Amino acid sequence: MSDISIESGDKPPASGAETARAHVVAIANQKGGVGKTTTAINLATALAVFGKRVLVVDLDPQGNASTGFGIAHDARTAGTYGLLVDAFRFADVAMETGVPNLDIVPATIDLSAADVEMANVARGQERLRQALQPAVTRYDHILIDCPPALGLLTINGLAAADAVIVPMQCEFLPLEGLGQLMRTVEHVKASFNPDLELQGILLTMYDSRNRLSGEVSENVRGYFGDRVFDTVIPRNVRVSEAPSHGKPALFYDLNCAGSRAYVALASEFLERGRP
Ligand code: ADP
Ligand code: MG
Repeated sequence: MSDISIESGDKPPASGAETARAHVVAIANQKGGVGKTTTAINLATALAVFGKRVLVVDLDPQGNASTGFGIAHDARTAGTYGLLVDAFRFADVAMETGVPNLDIVPATIDLSAADVEMANVARGQERLRQALQPAVTRYDHILIDCPPALGLLTINGLAAADAVIVPMQCEFLPLEGLGQLMRTVEHVKASFNPDLELQGILLTMYDSRNRLSGEVSENVRGYFGDRVFDTVIPRNVRVSEAPSHGKPALFYDLNCAGSRAYVALASEFLERGRP
């Protein structure tokens, strides 16, 4: 993938105090199909285009984030499964994505057994946090793409994170299920990761022609106030086509509405900083 540049007007203001430790964000929602992986891929890409050093950790056995970066199954390292179960070192499993500044720990199908295999391991909830120790000084941002469940994998993602982004699809009344996710976040906070914060709720797949989208967005903002990102990701066909080309939407069509929204999200994310 070749370099792309973004007009300077879109760039976030230079942030003064860059800390040496990566800002680690889990992208979580136990509901499938809400835009977690799309957000992991495209927020990561936009941050990398802004010059940040970024790592994506694919924590979903379906490996959609890995596929979305065009990484064929047989080209993958032992990946997240290697880190969690086989005590591989970070340096042995991280790979380049082809996007400058952006690396990935891919997911392999083995990861679907990791939940069970880690169940009786001491401190099994903190495996990812420990395994990523060497990575936190190498990157500015680490985005963890969680699977659509609240099992041990997502708990590992939350335990390794400073903050969580919760994507919500604007086409369902989404508040049901959110309580369960928030209870899981509270559980992880109380048990292993007192510093975990809600980074923000992200409204995805917004369709201005669909009245429900507007209602959902109003409801969620009424309830969560400024914990909802101002940036809304529109439903955009180019965004959904990009993964089958093995490219982030930003490299598939930088000017489509979805790519522009992810660039705006990256600016807002950097402006807001750590929660
Ligand atoms: P999750 O990781 O939460 O399961 P995905 O990011 O894989 O969700 O998105 C589910 C499906 O919706 C995918 O086919 C994806 O390409 C599509 N999709 C995600 N975001 C958008 C968007 N903004 N516009 C159109 N399609 C989208
Ligand atoms: Mg996904």
